[in-house]
Amino acid sequence: MEIYQGKSVFAGIAIGKILVWKRGEREVVRRDVEDVDRELRRLSAALSRMTRQLKTLYQTAVSAVGERDAMIFDGHLAIAEDPALLERIRGMIREQHVNAEYAAAQAGAHYAALFEAIPDDYMRERAGDVRDITDRLIAILQGRQVDEAAMEQGTIIVAEDLTPSETMQMNREKVGAFVVRLGAPTSHTAILARSMNLPALIQTPYENRIDGHLAIVDGIGGSLIVDPDEETLRDYRGRLRKEQEKARLLLSLKGLGNLSRSGRRMEIYANAACIEDIDSALQNDAHGIGLFRSEFVYLGKETYPTEEEQFRIYREALQRMEGREVVIRTLDIGADKKAPYFGIAPEANPALGYRAIRICLQEPELFRTQLRALLRAASYGRLAIMYPMICTLEEVRAARACACRARRELEEEGCAVPSVREGIMIETPAAVMISDLLAKESDFFSIGTNDLTQYTLAVDRQNDKVNALFDPHNESVLRMIELTAKNAHAAGIPVGICGELGSDTGLTGRFLSMGIDEVSVSPAMVLPVRKALREND
Ligand code: PEP
Ligand code: MG
Repeated sequence: MEIYQGKSVFAGIAIGKILVWKRGEREVVRRDVEDVDRELRRLSAALSRMTRQLKTLYQTAVSAVGERDAMIFDGHLAIAEDPALLERIRGMIREQHVNAEYAAAQAGAHYAALFEAIPDDYMRERAGDVRDITDRLIAILQGRQVDEAAMEQGTIIVAEDLTPSETMQMNREKVGAFVVRLGAPTSHTAILARSMNLPALIQTPYENRIDGHLAIVDGIGGSLIVDPDEETLRDYRGRLRKEQEKARLLLSLKGLGNLSRSGRRMEIYANAACIEDIDSALQNDAHGIGLFRSEFVYLGKETYPTEEEQFRIYREALQRMEGREVVIRTLDIGADKKAPYFGIAPEANPALGYRAIRICLQEPELFRTQLRALLRAASYGRLAIMYPMICTLEEVRAARACACRARRELEEEGCAVPSVREGIMIETPAAVMISDLLAKESDFFSIGTNDLTQYTLAVDRQNDKVNALFDPHNESVLRMIELTAKNAHAAGIPVGICGELGSDTGLTGRFLSMGIDEVSVSPAMVLPVRKALREND
């Protein structure tokens, strides 16, 4: 038995097999092959494996998100079996004597370019699908791909680090816990693990040889226990049963109001990064979605999501929430959330650089596409729009003017748009200090304590070397929250907290006394916060 000590970012216990996850090289090198038949056999084996994977993905997706949304994998399967694409790859191997990876990359690029040249959103999306398929095939050929079909239920993913888009793409049905060597508590990977309700450890050392071994992730004590002995295993199985029992008890709070003992109300919303989180928000009886991180619609993709694609996602989120409010934050890309196709040049201080609303205001077409998609979706539920990383009044005015233009455009096209609340995130000290002025031009405030802590204490939330200094409980941060609440209420607008601090049940009472109107927390934290609220005056 070996114990690796790390830091927990989400409590819970998981018992399962370890998969040491390695980020693959994407580079494809051209090699001359002598044995063409052998190369063709290698290609056939990879194609069969890919077909099996896609069929499994399709079936998993059908049960997770329904047949309509799972069609994407069915479409992928059709491309994977497309005779023209396959013949082009085989032809290159036969005639040019090149390796299968290179042939797949060339053929993929050829067909993707053909689709891209057609001026039609649907066809352009197919270009992305072709790239997805050829990338998957290349990954299998290079032996650097996690075989999701072969992954056991409850697999413990152990990695150096995971980017938010990598975490998003993990099969939620199969993953039991995350353990990373690097990482920071409010990094988006940690936030995603919490939203997936999985025990997660950061800053945990490990050795690659633990791959495939049985392990326990103790998300309470913060340890990874590899090859546990019988007694430890028995002990943790018992603890796991108790955890499950506690979760069942929490479910008895479903349907009860978000009220303190003395009857004061503080609504509890859930944060979401994707459609699955919406289901989990409903299961946990969230009042609504207080923060939908729309940037995840953009991450893990080959190119910008179209207006239609975004509209479908936002509409689905609104429809699934059945009239409960959904606050969708406009694109907050940059810093740790990167999508290569944005082509953002490396920056010395990305957290202080080109991100979030700054990008949207400098790229009007990008912003317009998202705003149009949001406003078109608005009639399918109760939408609110929220702008991130606000520092100045001019930014709020400019963002609202863009939304107003998008609305006018849609109305001229004959599309009725209901009224939508437009709020801002308070996550910079600048916004706190002028919150009295900002409150006059916003319908609501939502305090992003993750960034607010980073900028108030001048501590990079991603840098594990200064992690100990990242303290959202610091009096300076709490006073920022208090001042924001005071100014919001003086102007008659509501104020919420959507950063991770909102789920700190030790502070629920203090937030209540500050007059915070709502908190938005990861879905699994809705009921624990309700419990804490009901125990406070
Ligand atoms: C925050 O900064 O607190 C927040 C909610 O936004 P994000 O964590 O996505 O930056
Ligand atoms: Mg933020």
